[in-house]
Amino acid sequence: MAQQTVEDTFDICIIGAGPTGLFASYYAGFREMKTAIVDAIPEPGGQLAVLYPEKFIFDVPGYPQILARDLVKSLFEQATKYKPVLYLGERATELKINGDRTISVVTDKDRIMARSVLITAGVGSFSPNRLNIENQEKYEGKGIFYFVGSKEFFRNKDLLIVGGGDSAIDWALNLKSVAKSITVIHRRDQFRAHEQSVKELYSSPEISVKTFMELKSVSGDENLKSAVIFDNRTNAEETISVNCILVNIGFKANLGPIATWGLEMENRAIKVNGQMETNIPGVFAAGDIASPENSVKLNLIVTGFAQAAIAINVAKRYTDPKAQLFPGHSSEGSS
Ligand SMILES: Cc1cc2nc3c(=O)[nH]c(=O)nc-3n(C[C@H](O)[C@H](O)[C@H](O)COP(=O)(O)OP(=O)(O)OC[C@H]3O[C@@H](n4cnc5c(N)ncnc54)[C@H](O)[C@@H]3O)c2cc1C
Repeated sequence: MAQQTVEDTFDICIIGAGPTGLFASYYAGFREMKTAIVDAIPEPGGQLAVLYPEKFIFDVPGYPQILARDLVKSLFEQATKYKPVLYLGERATELKINGDRTISVVTDKDRIMARSVLITAGVGSFSPNRLNIENQEKYEGKGIFYFVGSKEFFRNKDLLIVGGGDSAIDWALNLKSVAKSITVIHRRDQFRAHEQSVKELYSSPEISVKTFMELKSVSGDENLKSAVIFDNRTNAEETISVNCILVNIGFKANLGPIATWGLEMENRAIKVNGQMETNIPGVFAAGDIASPENSVKLNLIVTGFAQAAIAINVAKRYTDPKAQLFPGHSSEGSS
């Protein structure tokens, strides 16, 4: 969590670190705007990171094909070139229009003051699907996790991973040299993950893979000590020793508070004009969340990139009326 002082008013606060927000962050830095970027989840990349990291994308200009996760990596590198302040793992809950042409973005942890705001919140904020088992609240954040913050945390731990998608398998493979033991349970015998990763999973002697198994309960004292898993065909139970459980069973997206911020909406999207301005002065929207008037709505990465460039250049002039709208060419600047 980054702390902000009053002097720290940002030129722009970008809500959403999906591809649109990440490209906007680069562009804002290029326009010498002091930038903050907020995302509800700790990882950047939006839908690409959460829903399809292992899929190839074929329609991003300049890349005949690129894995979603590799595109996110490059976008993040580009987005952080001018050192924006990152508020990852923070959900924007409120937008407050102050009298002095500043806007406060209130998150569940911070209050970020900015002269303009760009909403690139896509289909809404992602939150992990949670388990529904006894004692889960007692251990969430202590023994039960939905994200990996630091790999080191899992060193020498007995780890149970729940899930059968890319995230579950990637983390099993990534942590196999760190954790003391890894068990992966999945409720079916088919994994929804990259074929090569599944092969590697089954050929890793450090990882025990148990299919048709689900988590029934957890127990321990202050610390998590064990988990009961059961076979969903026979109901046969097994108790395993675990210190940590990583739950990777998908995400749900929720537009949540954005719909209550006084923005004109149309079919779960924010109405914008051709300059990506919303009905609130100083507040812009781009990407999947934006519904541009007199235009077609195309929910594509490339559309978000173009809209981000328009929004940032217009926001630049909003925050600094003497600034040119046209940014100049990046190729003419220094590297
Ligand atoms: C399976 C699949 C395959 C696809 N394949 C392609 C393809 O091949 N080519 C293509 O062009 N497009 C593809 N798309 C569409 C593409 O992924 C989207 O158009 C793109 O992700 C939109 O980017 P965005 O940055 O606008 O929004 P998102 O990617 O949705 O990112 C929005 C971010 O905002 C955050 N957020 C939302 N609300 C808040 C809040 N209140 N506070 C903080 N953070 C918030 C979210 O956590 C999220 O990280 C695909 C989509 C799917 C689901």
